[in-house]
Amino acid sequence: MIGAVLTLNAGSSSLKFALYDEDGDEPVADGAVDRIGANEASLSLKAADGTELPVVNIPLVDHAQSIKAVLESLRAAFPDKKLGAIGHRVVHGGTEFDRPTSIDDEVLEKLEALAPFAPLHQPHNLAGIRAAMQAFPGVPQIACFDTSFHRTHPWVNDTFALPREYYDRGVRRYGFHGISYDYITSELQRRAPLIAAGRVVVAHLGNGASMCAIQNGRSVASTMGFSALDGLPMGTRCGQVDPGVLLYLMDQEGMDADEISDMLYRRSGLLGLSGGLASDMRTLEASDAIEAKEAIAYFVFRIQRELGAMAAAMGGIDALVFCGGIGENSRLIRSRICERTEWMGIEIDHARNAGNAEIISSDMSRSKVMVIPTNEGLVIARAAREHLRHVA
Ligand code: ADP
Repeated sequence: MIGAVLTLNAGSSSLKFALYDEDGDEPVADGAVDRIGANEASLSLKAADGTELPVVNIPLVDHAQSIKAVLESLRAAFPDKKLGAIGHRVVHGGTEFDRPTSIDDEVLEKLEALAPFAPLHQPHNLAGIRAAMQAFPGVPQIACFDTSFHRTHPWVNDTFALPREYYDRGVRRYGFHGISYDYITSELQRRAPLIAAGRVVVAHLGNGASMCAIQNGRSVASTMGFSALDGLPMGTRCGQVDPGVLLYLMDQEGMDADEISDMLYRRSGLLGLSGGLASDMRTLEASDAIEAKEAIAYFVFRIQRELGAMAAAMGGIDALVFCGGIGENSRLIRSRICERTEWMGIEIDHARNAGNAEIISSDMSRSKVMVIPTNEGLVIARAAREHLRHVA
């Protein structure tokens, strides 16, 4: 008996969690704390069948209190389960952490040193880890990194053409969404091993969006780079921008780093392009406003453009896989993307696409097009289980 595994994903004001048994792909319960620190902060907990479970009523003033509330609620709901390990999602593992890692004081210190590379995410991830370590001093804590999967990039996809010393100081293309790409790769190996051994582009299209070129199971290029801003436009993030624009905003409009950061992370992307209408794709698809249509057109165009770039990084493409909230659900976006991809041997079957089939390419298509729901929580749970098996 290695015990149950809890996965935690701590953001700035939210904490998502799931409880897994020692085996099985589905969590026995999951939930979230939302708006941590605000008056209307709330904790929700659902059993595997979707029924709401009762939660303890304590003030959710910070991450530590939120984790306490989660643990006490889980204990009350599942008194017989023994927690074997806690798995954490950590956005940045720098150049060193290329795999899930058991957290001790030394590792925690190294992760803290990486906070300047992801100032909007890393400190919250670490707050979650510290709170969990405090609540469960004897329980192993495992960190899974969004950057690890991309540590196999060749140098040309790892560097910027800046003075060389910046590379040595950590200014590199780290790439993100690696936990999702890891899952999709493992699913491809299981469902379609021949494809998994070939050249695959995965498009993770959710609120955050990126694409990854994966050759024989290894990441060779990604649209996200030093930060989670580069590449595709996202819900509220800009995607690729000419760095000259930022210099202009600083020089001519007197914007400082905080103002630019707020604009690039929170006011750009689909939200910015749609004139503030929505960052949410469903809302944009349902809107008749010209700004909504233009936001979608830009999103689709940049994906088509990057698809060419990702295929070029591998000298061709054998399969395109969609995942993330938009990739898994939006028939419209998938078919719009594949409207201009026949030149690369991608031909969609519209009936299969409309039916949300696993394979949505036509039988004539040279490259397969697939839809695979991602499951980042399971990757983290598996890493925590793996650790437990090693120490057992
Ligand atoms: P996150 O990156 O926060 O995990 P998700 O992967 O859940 O986000 O993706 C959220 C996005 O998916 C939103 O833009 C949402 O509108 C979009 N989405 C979800 N379902 C659909 C759908 N049926 N049609 C179009 N877009 C959808």
